Amino acid sequence: MAVSKRIVLHFPRRLVDRPIVSRLVKDYDLEFNILKASVTPEEEGLMVLELSGKQANYDKGIRYLTESGVKIQSLSQNVIRNEERCTHCGACITICPTGAFEVEPLTRRVMFYDEKCLACGLCIKACPPRAMEVHF
Ligand code: SF4
Ligand code: SF4
Repeated sequence: MAVSKRIVLHFPRRLVDRPIVSRLVKDYDLEFNILKASVTPEEEGLMVLELSGKQANYDKGIRYLTESGVKIQSLSQNVIRNEERCTHCGACITICPTGAFEVEPLTRRVMFYDEKCLACGLCIKACPPRAMEVHF
């Protein structure tokens, strides 16, 4: 049976330059499409992939990634902002790898553009009043 799933890969710093993803094609006969890729301020790599192939190969490929030290997250998680809690402090702006937060020049309010969010979760820890929440 063939599968195709969207996943977020978190690469620790030591793996950022390694050709880990290309081995998914060579060794596990999988196809991938990189939807987004970035490096966070802590130099962790983040990549959103659409990964396709036979279920058995997909499972082996995921096991290989996990054993290599890559953390995998499914994209079904949804990050939202609790507007009542946000103090517009701006702490999330530089943390977000995809630029989902921007200051609105006139009001100085921090806008959250959820269509840019890849649900990496970095803003959740960084937000002082815990306004960013993950919903499953
Ligand atoms: S860090 Fe939290 S409180 Fe501060 S602007 Fe971002 S979402 Fe709002
Ligand atoms: S979870 Fe937060 S830091 Fe990560 S992409 Fe979404 S808004 Fe940006």
